[in-house]
Parts: sequence; structure tokens; C-alpha cells
Amino acid sequence: MTYDLILHHGHVIDPSQGIDGQMDVAIENGLIAELGENLPVSSLTAEVDVAGKYVCPGLVDLHGHWYQGSSYGIDPNGCLNDGVTTVVDAGTTGFINFGEFRRHTIEPAEIQVLAFVHIGGLGIPTTLLGELEDLRYARPKETARVIQDHQDVVLGVKIREGSMSGNHGLEALDLALKAAQETQLPLMVHISQGAKTPDILKRLRTGDILTHCFQGRGNGILTEPLGDLLPSTIEARKRGVLFDVGHGCGSFSWETARRGFECHFYPDTISTDLHRFSVDRFAETLPTTLSKFLHLGMSLEDVIAKSTWKPAQAIGRSEQLGTLKKNSIADVLIFEIETGEFKFEDTHMQVEMGGKRIKPYLVLKEGKVIQPGQVAICRRKLYESDQEYFNRIERTSIVSKKK
Ligand SMILES: [Zn+2]
Repeated sequence: MTYDLILHHGHVIDPSQGIDGQMDVAIENGLIAELGENLPVSSLTAEVDVAGKYVCPGLVDLHGHWYQGSSYGIDPNGCLNDGVTTVVDAGTTGFINFGEFRRHTIEPAEIQVLAFVHIGGLGIPTTLLGELEDLRYARPKETARVIQDHQDVVLGVKIREGSMSGNHGLEALDLALKAAQETQLPLMVHISQGAKTPDILKRLRTGDILTHCFQGRGNGILTEPLGDLLPSTIEARKRGVLFDVGHGCGSFSWETARRGFECHFYPDTISTDLHRFSVDRFAETLPTTLSKFLHLGMSLEDVIAKSTWKPAQAIGRSEQLGTLKKNSIADVLIFEIETGEFKFEDTHMQVEMGGKRIKPYLVLKEGKVIQPGQVAICRRKLYESDQEYFNRIERTSIVSKKK
């Protein structure tokens, strides 16, 4: 038996197999070949000693925006620097521009990109206007069609509920559900200020995903202000609706998360909602978001589960992604826990000091070794309207904080 690469003596955390302890990981032909102790080495095997480091499956970021034909989209490849080996686009495109997104980004990307398709024909093109302020953009038939044509990379349907869906959010939701039902795939629903969250939760089905579960701008999963879980939140969780973090630049509040934890409500998946604005304003990365949840008291094993195996399960890809099972794709993150004093900020400009953070050390993408920082990052220029958007976010964050 000849392996291409062996990672020696790392502390392996693989929640998909209940593994939490020291062992070697062997890679062959871009796949995980074996986990165990004293794996045989030949003259052809590359060896890396990762003693004192943690080894986990490559991270799966369930919510980000990667179509650069939108004001929001950024180049996904930069996430490889952070140990993220699969990114999911949360509906930046709709049936009109999905094909172009696939050709321009999904296919050439070094990182794996999968996607939800927005019920609005153009996805989320701009900050200037909500994508469903005019309900004529919501097209269930065409959305289902494009999903069926791209089943290998499409995971489901996306919709944003709040000001971006005007005063017909529930009608738009029903149209999105229609496309999701027709394709037998999950619906991912973004909730923000103005969303009719209890009615939304009542409509969601097993496996549907509610994102921005710890947003603190109102119309969230709790009674206001900062009360108990909505009865519809409790019922939805019982029914198997999944709750995702989606940090973003307006959707993560320490207060909401802490109140959720007090009610024994933890997220199913932890994601960044990275886009042109959250990446600039918060320099957010998935390891940073995970470190915020360590700071809130979640265990390391738990945050790793919620950024590997759990999102992979949510998108029906847990045989290949978010796991170190034999014959799964050799996407691996090797990381350290740095201790010190670190500033962590929520999207209401509330800074807390934390004592530890996850620091990527080495990344494997299909067995290929990547050093953090090695992948070049290029981003589009910001314009006046982008600055207006930053100002708007800041203003509304302070207002909702004072409420
Ligand atoms: Zn988003």
C-alpha cells in the first residue's frame, strides 16, 4: 500500500465518525485512504508532522455570495486560505444569470462551489433595490427548470424575507416553496427586519433552512425584545427545519445568540454570509465566526461539527464532504488554537474580548497542499453606492441596538 501523503500525530476531530483523538490521516489520489496509527510509509509518501495541531474535514460554508456579476459577490477561492474547501452560494443568482455564474465561477473555481438558486430571476443583483420588491421577478417554473438543468451543483431554492420582498413576502415565499416542492429540494430563507417570521416558520418543511437565526434587528426567532423562543421556532425545530447563523454584516447579535443559548437553542450550522460588504466591514472568515461561538461557550467539537458534517448533511452531500471517512474527498483543515486576547465584534458594533481563536495551519483541497495566505485575493472596487450601503448598515445597526 502506497499513500501520497500522511499527516502524522495530529489530533483528529471528525464528528461524522465520532472521532476525537490522536491518529494519522493517509491520502491517496485526492481521497482519504485511511485513518489510524502507524500507517505504512513508502519512499513515495510525503509526510507532514502535525503533532500538537488539530485535523478536521475541510470546512463547508453554507452561506456566502460568490457571483461577481452582483454587487454582493466575491471571488470564492480566497476562502481556501481559511480552511474552507466548499462554499455554498446563497442565491446570488436566479434563473436568468445562473448559467453565467456556473461558467464564470463554479466550473473554473479551485474551491468547490455549490449553489441555491434565488426565486427572483436575477438573484440578488444590487444593494440599490430589493430583488423582490416587484413580485413579477419571482418565477417558480423557470427556477425549477434551471435547477433541474444543473442538478449536479444546485442544492435548492433561496429567498430573502424582509424589506427586499416588499409587502408581499409571504406570497413570494409560497412561490419559492412551489419551486422547492417541484424539485424536491430544500428552501433556504433569509429573515431580516420586516419578515413575518412566525408565518414563515409555519410554512417551512423538514430540511428547509432558516438563515440569520441570531440576527438582532427584529422579526427574529424570539419574542421581542429578547424574550422566549417563538412557539413557531420550537415547532419548526421539532419538524426538522434547520437554523443557520449567516453572520453577514447585519445578522449576528451577541444578545440574540446568548438569549438563544439560555433557551437551549443552538444553531444547526455556522456560516459566514460572506459578501463584498461583510468581508470588508468585518474581515470575517469562517474560522473567525467559529471562534465567536467558542467564545459564546460552544465546544470545539461542536463548532467543527456545525461547519463540516452538519452543513454537508443539510445539502445532502455528507458521503463526500465534511467528513474524513475512507474514500471521501481529501479536503482537510489542519489548525491551531491560538490563545491570547482577541477582539470579536458582532454586527451591532459590540466588541467582546475572547481568549482563543482558530488559526488555519495547512489546508488540503482534494489532497493538494495549500498554505494559508497562498491563494491571491482580488476584489472589485467600491463605489459611492457601496459607501451609502455601509452607512445604512451602520445606522440601522445602532438604531436596533438602542431599541
Ligand atoms: Zn446572504
